[in-house]
Amino acid sequence: MPPSHTTPRPTYRDERVSVLLPLPLAGAYDYLVPPDLSVSLGDFVSVPLGKRDLKGVVWGNGSNEVDDKKLKNINGLLDIPPMSEDLRKLVDWTASYTLNPPGAVLRMSMSVPSALEPPKTRIGYLPGVSAVEDEGDSRIRMTEARRRVLAVLAEGPPRVAAELARSAGVSASVVRSMADAGLLKPVTLQQQLDMDLPDWERPRPILSPSQAEAAAALVAAVEKSVAAADDNGFSVVLLDGVTGSGKTEVYFEAIAATLAAGRQVLVLLPEIALTTQWLKRFTERFGARPLEWHSDLTGAERRLTWRAIVSGEASVVVGARSALFLPFPNLGLTVVDEEHDSSFKQDEGVCYNARDMAVVRARLGNFPIILSSATPSLETFVNVQSGRYKSLSLPERHGGASLPEIAAIDMRIEPMESQSWLAPALQEAVAHSLAAGEQVMLFLNRRGYAPLTLCRHCGHRFQCPNCTSWLVEHRLQRNLSCHHCGFSTPPPEECPACGTPETLAACGPGVERLAEEVAERFPQAHCEIMASDTMQSPTAAEALVRHMQNREIDILIGTQIMAKGHHFPYLTLVGVVDADLGLAGGDLRAAERTFQLLHQVSGRAGRAERPGRVLLQTYRPEDPVMEALVTGTRDEFLTAEAEERERHGMPPFGRLAALIISGNDYDEVERIARSLGRSCPVEEGVTVLGPAPAPLSILRGRHRWRLLLKARRDSNVRAILRSWLAGVRIRGNVRVQIDVDPYNFL
Ligand code: ADP
Ligand code: ZN
Repeated sequence: MPPSHTTPRPTYRDERVSVLLPLPLAGAYDYLVPPDLSVSLGDFVSVPLGKRDLKGVVWGNGSNEVDDKKLKNINGLLDIPPMSEDLRKLVDWTASYTLNPPGAVLRMSMSVPSALEPPKTRIGYLPGVSAVEDEGDSRIRMTEARRRVLAVLAEGPPRVAAELARSAGVSASVVRSMADAGLLKPVTLQQQLDMDLPDWERPRPILSPSQAEAAAALVAAVEKSVAAADDNGFSVVLLDGVTGSGKTEVYFEAIAATLAAGRQVLVLLPEIALTTQWLKRFTERFGARPLEWHSDLTGAERRLTWRAIVSGEASVVVGARSALFLPFPNLGLTVVDEEHDSSFKQDEGVCYNARDMAVVRARLGNFPIILSSATPSLETFVNVQSGRYKSLSLPERHGGASLPEIAAIDMRIEPMESQSWLAPALQEAVAHSLAAGEQVMLFLNRRGYAPLTLCRHCGHRFQCPNCTSWLVEHRLQRNLSCHHCGFSTPPPEECPACGTPETLAACGPGVERLAEEVAERFPQAHCEIMASDTMQSPTAAEALVRHMQNREIDILIGTQIMAKGHHFPYLTLVGVVDADLGLAGGDLRAAERTFQLLHQVSGRAGRAERPGRVLLQTYRPEDPVMEALVTGTRDEFLTAEAEERERHGMPPFGRLAALIISGNDYDEVERIARSLGRSCPVEEGVTVLGPAPAPLSILRGRHRWRLLLKARRDSNVRAILRSWLAGVRIRGNVRVQIDVDPYNFL
């Protein structure tokens, strides 16, 4: 099948069209196509808006709402391939589903304004003619500095002035004067990504029978979609396998088949440390790096990547959730790895779930999507049970490694010393592993030294000035900081409330404090911390992983950032310091999420020949989450959890939408929240909880109230929300944020 953009697109000439702009306007605006221009659906164009010149996308027929005489002309067509039909439909679909203006969603697809400009060129230098021919010419003074510049150029490609000066260790004026004297010749440089094409025919590992079976099914889905003339190329497959079973290896086969068919591939990964190891694996398999899409890209990388994608040159892109809205003209497969991960949900701006919208994009584009996980989300689990999604399972770890043995330590009966966070049973297990020359991972999902600091004298607690949250002490960085807004302050010498010096007390452990205890108890062991704030860069993270792999680290202490992806053959013991931590909030997904996280952490133990062991420190060993982990009964746990949700009409059996009202003025926020409460929809099967102050009642200086709409699955949540909000006037800087399918209840 040809890529969707080559199917005939209607052409507009000398008539009105609607153009969608990447702005939160109510809809697309009409423009006139001037006689000397012809445009088609999806074309990127520049148009006037007020006094400005903006860039947008030809979206459809004109609406005829604006009088012909007031209509303005399109300024011009941009030299960029058009936006594909599946993406245009996805933009409209997402806008409608999340109750956002389509332009706000389009903005996510056009997130790199500079990519719409003609590619930038820069001036680089090569050795000039006179440098080569006139070496002996006495009119040109050849200084030592100048020689160094020429020596640098002799070795490589043309360089821009600043870079040339830096490499040669000379000042910019030396380069300039050399150019003036003809010793350097200017040339125009096009910026380019160095991009190798993945080779899908490279030798692959020999797959085990169950891996081969799963891979064949995925390849068949890809081939079917390539051959599909109509709309049966779409399918959703859950690749369900324990950690280390080879899910990545298996979906690489589907990627290879997609590349062989000349189509593009998108792989979505959770935003965390995973990417490095994944890139390495991909490069080994396909002999080239894929393009990356995440928040750390530089402006130039972002621009070049966007253009490589829209032009179809980029064949594989791996990225965080925002990569879903990139302008692939020819997408043929999406993989959502760790599909259960909550980082796919965005809960600011346009609130969308990239996993769910990825399924929508695959349906609109008529191609397969693979969801991969060892701990599928309840939503996906239910979709598999009902037959909407297919499931392929990989029951064993590759190479015969067994799954770790998981046991709970009942903290209610352990004899704990004060200011100690490691139970004697866990200490003993650590000592045992160290003695055997093996590695240990201690998991505590809390950054910093202590989650709360108070004054021993007056009881004052350190709170963020902008948020309803305690300040977390970070001893390594010597500050108290807010994990919600980033506020940070050095720890004061005396209590700001009572003025007594040196009375500050840390309450509870974070990873830094745990490291202190570990250092005291196991002074011989080399211990490191792995948390997002202790690793300042991707290279630091990489180095840490390498040290762990080389067994230079005996005990690794970390937060959820170390839960995923890593393969440490000598890691045999995982200790979970506070297994109950995630259950405390008690929101809809607390149990599910805790199970997923602890299962994933557990999966780090015993990935090779040596069997692994996991100890969970818990005050509630009888909790279904702990029991499911200990007995390895994931499906029973999910089934029970699903029944519970169904009984209460909770997602995925019912629908939720949250309304978050926020603003600088408390009274105004409360007034609008209450007025929304009074005018709430009265309908069978619909209930509204609230209004009430949000648990996080102040965030970044803004007061927050919440309402939660709960509706039956078959109700039209969008229509209900629309008419509800239409009746309420919102003023000042108050904002009402709608979060359909919320994950965050704070
Ligand atoms: P998962 O994604 O399910 O956690 P991976 O695909 O990361 O599993 O595989 C775990 C480890 O086993 C990796 O180091 C991978 O290279 C290796 N592996 C998996 N399948 C095979 C295979 N068929 N041949 C060789 N190595 C394999
Ligand atoms: Zn704060």
